[in-house]
Amino acid sequence: MAIIGKSFASVSLLVALSIPAFGQKLPFVGKKSDPAKEAEKNVLRYEKLKQYSLDRYRENLEFRDEVDQRYEELLRSHSQRAYARNTGVSSYIATVREDRWRVHENLYDNLVVQDHINRLGQHLVPKDSERAFAFKVIPEPIPLAETLSTGTIYISTGLISVVDSEAQLAYVLAHEMAHVQLDHWKERVMLDCGQQAYAEDQAAKSARIGMFTSLLGAGLGGIFGGIPGTGIAGNLNSAVNGMALGGAIGQFAGALLNRPLIVSWDQVEEDAADQMAFKAVLEASYDVREVPTLYATMQKAAARDTRIGLGFLGSRHRIEQRMEKAKDLIANAYQADIAAKLKTGFLSTTAEHRNLMAELKRDNGIMAYYNDMFEMSRSNLADAVAIRDNDPAAHYFYAKVLKLIGRTVEDDRLAQAEFYKATKFDTRDENFGSHLHLALMMARDRNADKAEITKELDSYVSDYAHYNVMDRALRAFPPNLDSVYEYMTLYGDPGWRPKPPDLKDVDPAYQQISDGVAARVPGAPQGPAMRADNPAEPGKGTTGVGGRPPVPAELMNRIPGGQIIAPVQQMKDSVQQQTQQIKKQ
Ligand SMILES: [Zn+2]
Repeated sequence: MAIIGKSFASVSLLVALSIPAFGQKLPFVGKKSDPAKEAEKNVLRYEKLKQYSLDRYRENLEFRDEVDQRYEELLRSHSQRAYARNTGVSSYIATVREDRWRVHENLYDNLVVQDHINRLGQHLVPKDSERAFAFKVIPEPIPLAETLSTGTIYISTGLISVVDSEAQLAYVLAHEMAHVQLDHWKERVMLDCGQQAYAEDQAAKSARIGMFTSLLGAGLGGIFGGIPGTGIAGNLNSAVNGMALGGAIGQFAGALLNRPLIVSWDQVEEDAADQMAFKAVLEASYDVREVPTLYATMQKAAARDTRIGLGFLGSRHRIEQRMEKAKDLIANAYQADIAAKLKTGFLSTTAEHRNLMAELKRDNGIMAYYNDMFEMSRSNLADAVAIRDNDPAAHYFYAKVLKLIGRTVEDDRLAQAEFYKATKFDTRDENFGSHLHLALMMARDRNADKAEITKELDSYVSDYAHYNVMDRALRAFPPNLDSVYEYMTLYGDPGWRPKPPDLKDVDPAYQQISDGVAARVPGAPQGPAMRADNPAEPGKGTTGVGGRPPVPAELMNRIPGGQIIAPVQQMKDSVQQQTQQIKKQ
């Protein structure tokens, strides 16, 4: 997905916009009209096309077959997309220069966050729904959400990171769920076929229009032929084939299959999804009065950074309208329901959610940092360190972004303090870069203690080498070892380190093979290096084993952090109570 659409989405959306909708004039032609009137007209056009398509689907067997076949093709192509994401690399440790961090690909490799988001989403599905849904988090700093016709809803770490509360997040998930529940993908296919059929009807009536659609079809076929469903640029052949196909039958419908996932749904579909989401969120006892706030937040974020606002927001100039609509629902249609819910109380953001946001915002903040999305990176990482003060990676990258974009003496001081914390909480000696940056920042001060500077520089070099050696030794361990460290800390064992595997029942011959392979790989990176090309997901970072000095007691005490331990302790207590009750019965 990372490569997908980013370059093509804009092109194809533009093209999609220029397809004349059912009886619609080409947009951007003529003078500006009243948006409210335009919206009204669009609803009428949409309803007319929908009615035309439904009638034809009922009456015309050939049309029905075509729609069904195209929908099956769409389902297949979406299954393939899902398969690629589900089976692709999830995470690995990367090191570039003095930085070490965990790269997430395809799916965000954090099982606890994935599970939390999925449960939140499942909670919003209408009880009587016959569809099955899966809510998944993708690692992508650009805030977006997209749906597959398979029932999969993808939400990016970037979107989750800018949404303020569980209620607002619930609304985003419910909106995407609604597109699936309301069968918008099938509707899309039917409307596209209907539009084509309508064009053919018209073409039969007018030779001039016939020629126009054929020419336009050739152009569209050529363009879309180059953007196959995988989102990878097609070769000349597919473009030529597409053009031939498009030209031969002058059809628009084929474009649908090749559209990137982030389609701009028709505003009628968007409004329907908004309505269903509003109801679902209220029924799940989340405070729908936060919905306008969500739109306002997104609007502000999108104004700051134009990369924000794809996907969920759809058409940016409609945010205002959708916000007004939500305000209207709150003030009128749902006023009584809201008042009733207020008596029992709305669900508020849980401690669990807040804690998980520390991990997600750290990881997204790092992604945003490397994508030069400075504002998002700074705000994500500031939140991450505010929630969990003992996370060396969060401190390190927060310091890096502050140092990079800071302009004032205060920014500089804060960056240095954050580098300092990054070294102090680095109990596994993996955050070698923090020592280097700290030394260089200290060196700017003429009165700096020279011994301190040389000590930090020395730590940088020895930690780097230690990491490099341990990295090779630990390649057999799982790629989400960093998460396991987090769980271990959460469950009260912050000093845990993975044990070397017990190999006594392994035939020595296998060990010889393994040693031989290791010795014969001269191409193996000699220093920490980006390993995106290594699908074997090499083992990860270093540990404190092997004669490293023990972690100071005062740091150990701080590590679990009260906020993290409290809910876990409550959960443990409640499990214990339940177990005792079961025993009593
Ligand atoms: Zn939508």
